[in-house]
Amino acid sequence: MHMKDGTKLKSTAWLFNDPTHGSCGYDPSKEYRAIGWLGNRPLVTGDVPNEVVPALIKLAYSDACSRMRGVHWCEYCGAQEVRVTTEGGHEIRLGSAEIWVPGVGNVVYFAPNLVIQYIRDHGYQPPQKFIDAVMKYSAASG
Ligand SMILES: [Zn+2]
Repeated sequence: MHMKDGTKLKSTAWLFNDPTHGSCGYDPSKEYRAIGWLGNRPLVTGDVPNEVVPALIKLAYSDACSRMRGVHWCEYCGAQEVRVTTEGGHEIRLGSAEIWVPGVGNVVYFAPNLVIQYIRDHGYQPPQKFIDAVMKYSAASG
């Protein structure tokens, strides 16, 4: 699946098909925007603050939303077993869930948790607004 970063989700129907969304606090009055649904399109690369990857790992562990059916492979290196470890030593396998991050105002960003690998291993630079939202949300969630 490919969606340009920042794409506003027009139809939220698919969000209702998955009962796990309830635990993510899905709210139809919010504006859901895609981040990191890159397909195999060329990556926007650049520097990302060192704190971003650990923050995303933390959220991927504590706040996983929308578990997807099956596991998606990394579209860039073909890795099928992408695992990361939280600071607390919990291992997470990426590619089977999303990370939702509240942004400014009504915005909620939703990213595949593989975005962690895109940043860490492939130099992907997500939009600054998303980086800001991740840092703020991670700090707020203890
Ligand atoms: Zn990869």
